Amino acid sequence: MTAIAWIRREMRIEDNTALIEAAKEHREVVPFYVIDEELFRKKELGYPRVKFWHDSLLELEEMFEDRGWDLVVRKGKPLEEIEKVVEEAGVDEVFYNTDYTPYARERDEKVEKELEIPVRGVKDLVMFEKEEITTNQNSPYKVYSYYRDKWFEREKPGPREVPEFQTPVIGSHEIPDLESLGFERPERLGWIWNPGRKGGSERLESFREKIGYYEKKRDYPAEDATSKLSPHLKFGTVSIREVFQAAEEARKGGADEEGVRTWEEELAWRDFYFQVLWNWPETVEEAFLQKYRGLEWNSKEEAKRRWKSWVEGRTGYPFIDAGMRQLERTGWMHNRLRMVVTSFACKDLWLDWQDVHDYFSRNFVDAEVSAMVGGIQWAYSIGTDAQPYFRVFNPWTQGEDYDPEGEFIREQVPELEEVPDEYIHRPYEMPEEVQKDSGCIIGEDYPEPIVDHQGQKDKAVEKFEELTN
Ligand SMILES: Cc1cc2nc3c(=O)[nH]c(=O)nc-3n(C[C@H](O)[C@H](O)[C@H](O)COP(=O)(O)OP(=O)(O)OC[C@H]3O[C@@H](n4cnc5c(N)ncnc54)[C@H](O)[C@@H]3O)c2cc1C
Repeated sequence: MTAIAWIRREMRIEDNTALIEAAKEHREVVPFYVIDEELFRKKELGYPRVKFWHDSLLELEEMFEDRGWDLVVRKGKPLEEIEKVVEEAGVDEVFYNTDYTPYARERDEKVEKELEIPVRGVKDLVMFEKEEITTNQNSPYKVYSYYRDKWFEREKPGPREVPEFQTPVIGSHEIPDLESLGFERPERLGWIWNPGRKGGSERLESFREKIGYYEKKRDYPAEDATSKLSPHLKFGTVSIREVFQAAEEARKGGADEEGVRTWEEELAWRDFYFQVLWNWPETVEEAFLQKYRGLEWNSKEEAKRRWKSWVEGRTGYPFIDAGMRQLERTGWMHNRLRMVVTSFACKDLWLDWQDVHDYFSRNFVDAEVSAMVGGIQWAYSIGTDAQPYFRVFNPWTQGEDYDPEGEFIREQVPELEEVPDEYIHRPYEMPEEVQKDSGCIIGEDYPEPIVDHQGQKDKAVEKFEELTN
């Protein structure tokens, strides 16, 4: 009997549930990858993510070859390409790892409905999915802390070995290069990533010794204290079970309990947002909190100047600008900054969260619909378990608290490099003499704050208040 293991975003052989289940039940398995034409037409797709995916796919093909198996790659529409392979290899069953985005659900439902052989979705991306963890009334959780408590109580599976199998010989397409797929490296993007399974394993290994310090250091963007595993988890070059196991091993090895626990809580956040997306797929387009669906945001066309300043990291608020430039240069932004720049886009600039979402999607190497919608709606105070609308991040004190000496700011915003410590968070307060000495003339080399934070904050809170209660 022959099965297809349809690989999508879990780009590894090890601990790949669809592959394991297919190989357990079938003698022959076709590891199969479709480069989905439709997905490539989506406007939110951008170079960092596509490059990471592309490198990972090239490596995956080699890794299959090294194990004596052929990865069959095709380009086209998933259903049509699967149908062809079913025909060519005489396939009896299709296995895939369940994905939770509205796009993936629609695609997979179509394949299940149209294909005349059994098609089986299996859990792989998360520890707990869909409605596995619910309230005592059997409804999905809207509040993270209650969800988390149950998440920790449950037994979690560890990684599994892939059984041996045989692959039938059928044709594969060459993986197209990035240029022919329509992606060019943006001028300001440096490439700091090491994609693929090898890169993911190395990253996880190097993070093991840091887990214990996570709680103490994770909020300081100048420190390399978070795992930077997000693109690897996005593309499945490491599995959720492998990273959880690494944390458990660190605990056993004596790593600080608070550090390990806090990091594991992030993995629970990841699962939490996946189940929010599954149970409330409409949140991709609308605020989770219905009462705030009536807020009228300014689109990027309406707020052209503000949008441009925010995107380019030239708002005159150094901590914000540092975050936005880190994104532009690396395709990644530290979590503290993701929260602060998004709050600023909302409460200070009143920018449409959908525009923010599209921009992040195109620029984040780790763009993940569930975490991104969750994170944006949290900062915009419109999501499940969101930041209350009246608790507005102060862009200056956030910088003072989490980048006290301005090390991160200076690294990302070179025009502020020589600004003395006392002005690094408020360079517009520099006397003329100091501006000259530090080679940073306000209004020329670096802008004045583009908006008045206190005034904007009051206006935003008022707009929320009109719709509250
Ligand atoms: C506005 C906004 C947008 C975001 N967009 C994304 C996104 O597109 N993709 C993404 O993976 N994360 C997103 N996050 C969550 C978080 O910022 C990143 O996961 C984290 O910064 C990635 O860095 P890391 O791998 O070093 O994380 P670590 O701190 O090492 O955490 C380990 C892993 O836990 C998961 N995780 C951590 N924090 C969260 C969280 N708040 N929600 C869900 N999962 C989490 C990630 O998979 C991460 O790799 C967003 C957060 C905000 C506030």
